[in-house]
Amino acid sequence: GTTTPVPQDVRPRLTVLSGPSGVGKSTVVAHMRNEHPDVWLSVSATTRKPRPGEQDGVHYFFVTDEEMDKMIANGELLEWAEFAGNRYGTPRGAVMERLEAGKPVLLEIDLQGARLVRESMPQAQLVFLAPPSWDELVRRLTGRGTESPEVIERRLQAAKVELAAEPEFDVTLVNTSVDAVARELLTLMGTV
Ligand code: 5GP
Repeated sequence: GTTTPVPQDVRPRLTVLSGPSGVGKSTVVAHMRNEHPDVWLSVSATTRKPRPGEQDGVHYFFVTDEEMDKMIANGELLEWAEFAGNRYGTPRGAVMERLEAGKPVLLEIDLQGARLVRESMPQAQLVFLAPPSWDELVRRLTGRGTESPEVIERRLQAAKVELAAEPEFDVTLVNTSVDAVARELLTLMGTV
């Protein structure tokens, strides 16, 4: 992926939640959405096909490869990365509007994206969501039931590499309880 520089004066209150695939990032975020509908979360663009129940514009903006090419070429993405054969990116405009208004922003993105945000916005708060154990992570990745064995294997390989990145992050939260992690995240975002 690549990154686009961001003005120095609009960097407050950006929190990045990242961590290995299958660790439960989207579950934590969904829980926060339910409990605190006022918390604003960036909606990413992706070339991945929707899973059952996923809505365009809510969980992701589902785009074609050509549309993703255009967004990248036009500098519309704050960061983007390829993950398990699909591209994912954070639309820049909505995030910057929120930050300029002094409002908290949460990104739920992969590790490569988190690194790119760190480069372009050094004051971003990087939060690593860690699994309680490796076995638990394997169980979660295998048990989702929506992915082919091939995709699961690719995600496990990615997760091994991603677990080693924990020291690069400002804060680690261990995902023992969705509710507890969601509350800790809210505190870190400064919204409670
Ligand atoms: P999934 O396909 O399971 O929804 O997401 C796969 C991975 O892509 C997850 O680790 C998720 O956090 C990450 N991801 C989602 N949106 C973005 C994005 O905008 N940028 C980056 N870099 N990663 C993303």
